[in-house]
Amino acid sequence: MRLHVVALPLHTRFRGLTVREVALVETASEDAAGWGEWSPFTEYDAPTSAPWLACALEAAAGDWPEPVRDAVPVNVTVPACDPATAHRIVTAGGCRTAKVKVAERGQALADDLARVEAVRTALDAEGPGGLVRIDVNGGWSVDEAVHAIPLLDRAAGGLEYVEQPCATVEELAAVRRRVDVPIAADESIRRAADPYRVRDLEAADIAVLKVQPLGGVAACLRIAEDIGLPVVVSSALESSVGIAAGVALAAALPELPHACGLATVQLFEADVVTDPLVPVDGLLPVRPVVPDPELLARHAAPADRFAWWAERLAATQGVRGPEARA
Ligand SMILES: [Mg+2]
Repeated sequence: MRLHVVALPLHTRFRGLTVREVALVETASEDAAGWGEWSPFTEYDAPTSAPWLACALEAAAGDWPEPVRDAVPVNVTVPACDPATAHRIVTAGGCRTAKVKVAERGQALADDLARVEAVRTALDAEGPGGLVRIDVNGGWSVDEAVHAIPLLDRAAGGLEYVEQPCATVEELAAVRRRVDVPIAADESIRRAADPYRVRDLEAADIAVLKVQPLGGVAACLRIAEDIGLPVVVSSALESSVGIAAGVALAAALPELPHACGLATVQLFEADVVTDPLVPVDGLLPVRPVVPDPELLARHAAPADRFAWWAERLAATQGVRGPEARA
């Protein structure tokens, strides 16, 4: 197995990052080379990074299920920016669904209302039927959520759903009983010791699944079946190689009623492939993605960062056991 590490600049600061470091694993065999992305955020420890590695190795081994669709509808993501920027991002994104980040630290509900209104205006300018969803990243208390959701629902001209309004599963369940807008669980599934508590406490209407933190495509298909909720596949800010794994999951799900959060390559200034996985008319194609050697070289991380990732890989393989050393 060969390790590549690239540092990819982002257009917009996201998750506090302006550069995203991404590791790619390449498993060369006689007639084919398989690629997988392993990009746990740099602050994650080895046990947290282990399912991310399982996802990369599954991809590199070519172990993905047969797709049941040839394209995946996706949403544009709007960071916690000013209304004019939000309008511009939605117009440029070319998607009929927009996911708007709200409850950013240091901002007020008025900022969220103005941003959501601008997003609705931008969608309506392109025609009817646009959908607005918000992602709170667990930023509200139950009472704050119950107060804010109806106001944002009105500002958005109707919300498709609210993602992770509060931090805990119990709080999601409490909010869900007090508001009419559907609730989606994200962190409550991917960071939870038990992802099925969301189901058991009837805490959500929709499950957001991310392939790397949840251990790969097959693992996510199992969770989707067991959790019994409609699934939205979302990214962890990957390069096109990692996005292809999310697309593989979205393409294999029996039902896909909502647009997926996989249009995040648009947030990158550079990618590792010549033909990045960005949406056309709100759709991502289901197709193979192979890095370009010249782009890998151009965006290669400095030697000290490569060494850091190599050490991290060894530590994570140690956590996962011998099967990760293929
Ligand atoms: Mg989220």
